[in-house]
Amino acid sequence: MRTMDKRTVEDTPRQGVVHILNSAVLVLNGNFEPLNVTRVRRALLLLIRGKAEMIENGRGYLQAETARLEVPSVIRLSSYVRRPIQPLRLTRRDVFLRDGNTCQYCGKTSRELTLDHVLPRHRGGQNTWDNVVAACVRCNHRKAGRTPREAGMHLLTEPVAPRPNPYHTFYRFLGANESWRKFFPEPRRGSAHGWNGHEGSAS
Ligand SMILES: [Zn+2]
Repeated sequence: MRTMDKRTVEDTPRQGVVHILNSAVLVLNGNFEPLNVTRVRRALLLLIRGKAEMIENGRGYLQAETARLEVPSVIRLSSYVRRPIQPLRLTRRDVFLRDGNTCQYCGKTSRELTLDHVLPRHRGGQNTWDNVVAACVRCNHRKAGRTPREAGMHLLTEPVAPRPNPYHTFYRFLGANESWRKFFPEPRRGSAHGWNGHEGSAS
């Protein structure tokens, strides 16, 4: 009986090979800290060039004409790469996450939230962490193109940028790559970016 790890080209349609080559690979830094996520095709090149070593083969094998290639799911760079911590880019999902999926005007938790620009865009309001909050449809409609003060509404909390989290970009991959978890530190209790945050596909 074949298992997942014994896949070869012969029994994998071409589409399957393309799928394997595009699968996600966790790249660890020289010191084993997660660095980024790449695709199998790039990871194979790094391995072949000796720039990285295989840590986990979680993607089976590819049968080439003369050799059987192990397909990595985790590799580690041979050298240490300095990585500056990037500020968190503002996305809809992350604003909702920061605000606990709660309307910042009435406090209602909702799955149907909208983004509200505290100082409206047409009045020069920026698309920045300190000017964008989660708002329910009702509150957003009521506030319309006004400032909270003009609309007689109050923000529950002052919006600020979340603290940069070096592992933020990895969370959405963890649901589909259980074996990667051991390379990450345990999340802080009560962290808005816990493992089962709204980004994962853990189901
Ligand atoms: Zn509301």
